[in-house]
This record gives sequence, C-alpha cells and structure tokens, in this order.
Amino acid sequence: MTAPWQERWSSALMKNYGTPPIALTKGEGAYVWDADGNRYLDLLGGIAVNALGHAHPAIVAAVTEQLQTLGHVSNLYINPRVVELAERLLDKFGQPGRVFFCNSGTEANEAAFKLARLTGRPQIVAADKAFHGRTMGALAMTGQPAKRAPFEPMPAGVDFVPYGDVDALTAAVSSETAAVILEPILGESGVVVPPADYLAHARRLTAEHGALLVLDEVQTGIGRTGTFFAHQAAGIVPDVMTLAKGLGGGLPIGATIATGPAAELFTPGQHGTTFGGNPVSAAAALAVLDEIDNSNLVDHVAAVGKSIATGVEALDHPLISHVRGSGLLLGVVLTAPVSAKVESTARDNGFLINAPAPDVLRLAPPLILTEDQAGDFVAALPQILDAATDESSAQ
Ligand code: PLP
Repeated sequence: MTAPWQERWSSALMKNYGTPPIALTKGEGAYVWDADGNRYLDLLGGIAVNALGHAHPAIVAAVTEQLQTLGHVSNLYINPRVVELAERLLDKFGQPGRVFFCNSGTEANEAAFKLARLTGRPQIVAADKAFHGRTMGALAMTGQPAKRAPFEPMPAGVDFVPYGDVDALTAAVSSETAAVILEPILGESGVVVPPADYLAHARRLTAEHGALLVLDEVQTGIGRTGTFFAHQAAGIVPDVMTLAKGLGGGLPIGATIATGPAAELFTPGQHGTTFGGNPVSAAAALAVLDEIDNSNLVDHVAAVGKSIATGVEALDHPLISHVRGSGLLLGVVLTAPVSAKVESTARDNGFLINAPAPDVLRLAPPLILTEDQAGDFVAALPQILDAATDESSAQ
C-alpha cells in the first residue's frame, strides 16, 4: 500500500513553509478538493494567484492550444505571445515602456533591484514588514529581519523605513537613493493599507530626488484590489512595477514593467532567463487579461470585496474588530489573537483561509468568487472563530 501524502511529502521535499496539513488534488472554479474528496471554498487562491479560479476553460484552452502549437522557444527568438502580452500590459499601465518577463514575483523584484543598481546610485529604500521574495536581492529588500538573518550578509545598500510613515520616508530619500520600493498594500504582513496620501507622497519625493519609484504589485496587481493595478487608486504612476501571481492565472510568470529612463537601463546580456515569459505562460496570461476585460471582473471584485467587508463587520462578533484591504485582498482584523488552529477550523467548515498573523485572517480568493460564495463564508465565520477559540482555550 502506498504511504499517505503527508509521509511521502515529509521525506521527499526540502522544508520551506510549515508542514502542509492536506493534499489538494482537484480544483474547479472557486472550489478545491482534498485527497479524501472533501470540498473547500478557496479563499486563499494559491496565495492571490488563481485569478480565474481553478480549471478555467479559457486558460485550459489557451494553454492546450499553445502547447500543441509551440511550447518553448527561449528568449533567443521572438515569441509572439510574449510580445502581445507586453503590449497588453503596457496598455493597461497606460504608459510607453518596456517589460522584462521572468517566472515569479521574486524574480521580477530581483530585476527591479538590478535596475536600481544600474542607475549608479548606491541606496535602495524599502519598508519594514514588506515582502519582496527570497532570492538574495529580493530578500535584501524584504523588511522581515528573521527571514534575512540566516542568509547574512545581504547585498549592501538597503535602508528600511516604517511602512506608511511619510516623515520617515522623507528623511530616508536623498540624491543617493536609486529607488524606493513599496507594496501598495502589505500583503504577506497581514493586508496593511498605508495612509491615503502615502503612495502619492512617495511618488513626489522620488521624482524630486531623481530616484525610481518601484511598486511591487505582485500581490495587488491584475484586478485584485478593485482597480487593475492598485496604484491606479492612488492616482500615481510608478517608474517600475512588478507583477506575478494573478497574471499567469496559475502558471508561473513574472513581469518587471518600466517606463521612462528606467525602461532603457538594461543593455543586451545584462539580465535574462530561459523560461521567462515562455509562450505557454504568456498564453495563460493573455487568457486571464481577456477574461478580466470580457467579464468586467475588476468591478466585480470591488463589489464582492465590499460585500464581504460589510458582511463581516455587521456580524458584530466580539472577536472581529474590522476588515481592511481593498477588493478581494482583505484582512479580517481580530480583537485578539486566535488559536493557530483557525486555519484548520476554517477547513473543518469547508473554507481555505490563511492567517498571516495571529490576529489577521487574509482573504485572497479567485476574482470570480460570487456574491453567494462570499456570503457562505461570512455566514460561517462566527462558527469558525468560536471553534478556534474553544480549541485555544482547551489547549
Ligand atoms: N512580492 C510580494 C508583494 C509578494 O506577496 C510575493 C509573494 O508572496 C512576492 C513578491 C514573491 O513572489 P513569488 O512567490 O512569486 O516569488
């Protein structure tokens, strides 16, 4: 008899995150199923990735057709799909510019780090609690000392400021600053929204000092926050923007988009990747963009996100403080830390959620989540919290 997935996982894979509790074997729309056949409403979305949910026919068709036509060419030859994708993204960005394609958010930020270096200035300003990835450059800009510590020394030249603090940012940026990198909303640190004028201030400040404003929209981009890019809600345009996660709808892709002089910084041979923007991932991304446009998903996201926030706050549950975030990137902020078992009590009730901090539940479901599905979660939340609290007091 074959050993259970749990046992095989723990002997076959290097440790990265904690031990996964269940094996997921099937997905359709906003639902996933585990190896025992239990169904869950997926409010995690592969960590804000599965924009169109699971097994979306448009992605399946686009990927199948592309694989049957041409699967991989490398960037030594023109790949028509990736040219189309770059043009579509620049059109959404609304600026002339250039795109570098890679395979993940981390790699997109790594490219942004290199662009900053090519300005010839020594310093990058990043934010405490921000997450930009785990390769050495991306990690060096990640404002979580515990993640950096085992891998010191980091690449030099990154200064950290408290996220959302206008005065601290003003004090940190100078003529030595190559770039300021910010998430429009902190995703991995529990969906933290900065003050309303923060991004606009960062834009003014970087322009004044001739530094690049880099926005990491890996988690917030592609419709998730109720505008196509989160920075559009702030009415600003960054010099560089990084994307990944939702762009590929489940296939690996990352993009570093630059406008103005930043778009011209790389010269041939300075940076590259074998798989970045390969035809199959690009075809999936084009299907995601088509579906977002054709089904008006950005407005849908804004509406369903509002329903969840209003519904959760109206529950009037003693453990619920408020809901923060935007669109379908939401943090349910609790009045007290709940048991680490909140994710498993949610699963027991048929929902996949994630608690990036003990007092925040993050929701980053597929953008296709319906009002009814959102309502199912809101109705179940009191029971989930009560069960998590019961278990923690019993421990
Ligand atoms: N940047 C942000 C804001 C993220 O949330 C993440 C991942 O969670 C990354 C970068 C890293 O992306 P990836 O895991 O695709 O390398």
